[in-house]
Amino acid sequence: MLIVMRPDATAQDIERVNDEIRRRGWQPHAISGGTRTAIGITGNPGAVEPEPFRVLPGVADAVPVSQPFKLVSREVKPDDTTIQLGNLVLGGKTIHIMAGPCSVESHEQIIGTAKAVKKSGATMLRGGAFKPRTSPYEFQGLKGDGLALLAEARKETGLRVITEAKDTATLAAVAEVTDIIQIGARNMQNFSLLEAAGELRKPIMLKRGLSASIKELLMAAEYIVARGNTQVILCERGIRTFETMTRNTFDLNAIPMLKALSHLPVWADPSHAVGVRKAVPAMMRAAIAAGADGLIVEVHPDPPRAKSDGAQSLDFSEFDKVMAEVRAVAGALGRDVARLE
Ligand code: PEP
Ligand code: MN
Repeated sequence: MLIVMRPDATAQDIERVNDEIRRRGWQPHAISGGTRTAIGITGNPGAVEPEPFRVLPGVADAVPVSQPFKLVSREVKPDDTTIQLGNLVLGGKTIHIMAGPCSVESHEQIIGTAKAVKKSGATMLRGGAFKPRTSPYEFQGLKGDGLALLAEARKETGLRVITEAKDTATLAAVAEVTDIIQIGARNMQNFSLLEAAGELRKPIMLKRGLSASIKELLMAAEYIVARGNTQVILCERGIRTFETMTRNTFDLNAIPMLKALSHLPVWADPSHAVGVRKAVPAMMRAAIAAGADGLIVEVHPDPPRAKSDGAQSLDFSEFDKVMAEVRAVAGALGRDVARLE
């Protein structure tokens, strides 16, 4: 149920509705629109009777929400959510590109990559410090040292930073350093991690699970937003199918579907989605054409020597070349690609 307040509703009217919701043992969630406030309800075990709310002062309407996801849905909040990172706005008309290695490996590697991707037009640096690897014998990341190197790269270049929080034990340490916390595909339904991320007031990028439906991704995002952290980016990163020539199958469909179903910014990760370096530039262009608000791309100074995901990482010149194409596709759609000064 969504309680839509009239444009002239007072703060008192809104508080009265909140009280009525709480009195029933449910939780109100105020969602401010351009001209009026709406109040979402969660915690209700069954359908909500609209009439007792419709008669309250300042209430324009009480409308049922048809989807199981509520706070992340466009039904509840028609306007796009944007995320402010200093002077950068993510999720608006301007597209942002995050780029960097799969894993932070060394000082030279991360600083060198940061400078190169900035020059090509990225606004954010990616790099895993805590790596959730399929095999326990593979490189697990530099952990705390990796976070420190990301902080140094930010200081040196002005790029914002995104890195993954692999578990609740390291979430606080990651949150302290990073500008956006990545929750990886393997953790999309780690509900303890989602709940803990929901308690933070820091942007989260939630990646689609390996075999998760669009609805499951949105329900996972709902866990974070229901705890009060409304700054969530959804990321399509490919799903498992019968295909073996590519690492995953890039579900381009998900991009316009997520944009239609949710107000949250929608990102794409063409690197993990296809997993084959030669195919990554085409999928970057395709993701922008499909309406993505941004991309996260793996770039490495020497992909064959990367400690993880070298096969899908672009080198500096490949990244530079495709960025010009990405800007052209964005321009054809009336969007631009952000650049740092
Ligand atoms: C990554 O970004 O390096 C990563 C591990 O991604 P995903 O969780 O999508 O597999
Ligand atoms: Mn990777």
